[in-house]
Amino acid sequence: MTFDLPVEFADNQRYVVVPGGLRDVHVHFRDPGTPEAETRATGAAAAAAGGFTCVTTMPNTTPAGDSPAWLREQIEDASLPCRIAPSACITKGRLGREVADLEVLAAAGAVAFTDDGAFVDDAHVMEEAMRRAAKLGKPVMQHAVIPALLGAGVMRDCAVARKFNLPLMPPEAETEAVRRDIALVRTTGCALHVQHISCAGTVELIRAARREGLPVTGEATPHHLLFSCDDIPADDANWKMAPPLGSREDVAAIREGVKDGTLGIFATDHAPHHASKKAGGFRTSANGIIGLETAAAITWQTMVVEEGMSPQDWIARWTTGPAALIGETPDPDSFTVIDTQANRVVDPETFKSKSRNMPFAGLRFAAWPAMTVFKGKVVQKWE
Ligand SMILES: [Zn+2]
Repeated sequence: MTFDLPVEFADNQRYVVVPGGLRDVHVHFRDPGTPEAETRATGAAAAAAGGFTCVTTMPNTTPAGDSPAWLREQIEDASLPCRIAPSACITKGRLGREVADLEVLAAAGAVAFTDDGAFVDDAHVMEEAMRRAAKLGKPVMQHAVIPALLGAGVMRDCAVARKFNLPLMPPEAETEAVRRDIALVRTTGCALHVQHISCAGTVELIRAARREGLPVTGEATPHHLLFSCDDIPADDANWKMAPPLGSREDVAAIREGVKDGTLGIFATDHAPHHASKKAGGFRTSANGIIGLETAAAITWQTMVVEEGMSPQDWIARWTTGPAALIGETPDPDSFTVIDTQANRVVDPETFKSKSRNMPFAGLRFAAWPAMTVFKGKVVQKWE
């Protein structure tokens, strides 16, 4: 089936229809294991509120998503207001030591493999996983950061890091991980997707790999498009995520990568945490911020309003880009309407997510989802 995106928009056209609805290949619903942060029900409600009709859950739950039973639990709840197309672990227990039963997991519905939250550090393990994933026609999605280069790093070099003497993440922790994995793409032929890109060097590596004809994709998150580490106001863990916010040059490079198609996918890395897990500042708090309900607003602001990207390309980054990664096309019975002149302030009190950990509260954005239609049914409508 082919799927045509709208070809033309009038200048200042207020409402934009997203065919198939927005799609997010990177969400954490903490289910099973951490219901105080999020459940599948609250996560799916947050997704629908954000305009999403299909999300890919990450397997870093408790227990980890390395079994068919785990996948069935993700897939089978038909009462949810969006579809879950889950990923599954690359390695058993996400421990990085032994490749999981990828063939069994693919047959049970895994759309991709990832140990997200952890990098598969052992190159031999990663190579075996990529050979087997390639045979299955499934991509591997990598949380690209080499632990030995990261150390205890929680922030890139910036004023707040220096003021509070916080341990730093060198950009090489990410770029060297991506360099290794691209080399493995050459030997295995496996499709590689680099998650939440934070460094200019990573964008350049992916651009070169794609020019070489390698099946390498990358995702840009709303927060890495909106903020640099220079925007972090204090030792406030609502700004803490992995990888951390990059420099201003990194933000510019990621935006350029999105514009020229090097990064063909937006993804939120929606990472809910109970407030108690974020109370301790950067050194001790958990990584991650929520993002489903602000994703459309922030990516429209940064890429369409500020960078002049076309609405068609913005739609593609949320629809055909992520769908192609997992071998799908947008759902013909679903769509999202974006009100590009809604002009609303981020109000966490309106969120459907169970968590509130994010640095966007009080910011005003022009474009917001007005209506989400999932499988022919209105699941969210903003008044
Ligand atoms: Zn990650």
